[in-house]
Amino acid sequence: MHNVIIIGSGCAGLTAAIYAGRANLKPLVIDGHEPGGQLTLTTLVENFPGFPEGILGPDLTDNMRKQAQKFGAEFKSGAVTAVDLSRRPFRITAGKETYEAQTLIVAAGASARLLGLESERKLMGHGVSTCATCDGYFFRGKPIAVVGGGDSAMEEAQFLTRYASRVYLLHRRSEFRASKIMVDRIRANEKIELVTPVHLEEILSPAKGAVEGVRVKNTQTGAVREIAVDGVFVAIGHEPNTAAFRGQLEMDANGYLLARNGSSTSVPGVFVAGDVKDSRYRQAITAAGSGCMAAIDAEKFLEEHSH
Ligand code: NAP
Repeated sequence: MHNVIIIGSGCAGLTAAIYAGRANLKPLVIDGHEPGGQLTLTTLVENFPGFPEGILGPDLTDNMRKQAQKFGAEFKSGAVTAVDLSRRPFRITAGKETYEAQTLIVAAGASARLLGLESERKLMGHGVSTCATCDGYFFRGKPIAVVGGGDSAMEEAQFLTRYASRVYLLHRRSEFRASKIMVDRIRANEKIELVTPVHLEEILSPAKGAVEGVRVKNTQTGAVREIAVDGVFVAIGHEPNTAAFRGQLEMDANGYLLARNGSSTSVPGVFVAGDVKDSRYRQAITAAGSGCMAAIDAEKFLEEHSH
């Protein structure tokens, strides 16, 4: 029986583990399918307070993990496949193991949807990014491409014109899913060129270890075009990792968990932190902050329910 189980080992889960560890709760962290979370997909992180020279994303999560271990957090690898939150202690199944916990912190994150190209995988963090706020600054004065036709893609394209010399917005259809006002803004922005309806065939050039361009094919005419860019921002949406909680915790229409009154959920004793409840800010620092909140809330809950 564990005092607290933390699902997820990104910034939110690891910060919750540091706080719960220091509160002597001996938290158990179940790593999840992307140990370290989305920061492991990045290279230099320049906006996490306390690192004026920046820090590599994987190093930042490694440090947090060591810090959590130092205070007694235990880690198990594996992804959670089922949970039973109908009564306490809660039951959490990950692979062949089932664990019991008095409180649960869900910090399972959201995964950026990817195109699935080999070149995308190879160049991730080396010119390919899923976060304009994080990486836009690296592309000052350079041409870049944004992929997607939803509000995220519009927002990222608009934001990136602050830095980039030119922004190519690549979308697979000629109609946009994004709200009209966002599309109108994009159309009015002289720095942005809409390239539709195209299929992104390849990000060039994985062999050189850097982004040099994209090859797109017009899905109506079949015409192939190469565009020279230094960066590609994939903005085709995120999927919150909440399948195991369906029917047990309240979610919004997109599957993000709903937090109320701090980090509480619809089930007393279950708390949420990080991107699994946040489709808006999605930053390492906001995830870390909410991990801290969830640990404090879990500690209070345990105090109040220990008699
Ligand atoms: P989204 O609305 O699901 O849009 C995803 C976009 O990516 C779609 O245009 C889709 O194309 C495209 N796409 C998906 N898979 C693809 C693939 N494999 N290859 C190429 N293109 C692909 O996601 P989102 O833009 O992240 O928005 C999520 C939610 O947050 C929405 O409800 C949105 O309104 C909201 N949001 C709001 C704001 C705001 O109001 N400021 C900002 C950001 C997000 P198709 O259209 O062809 O399917």
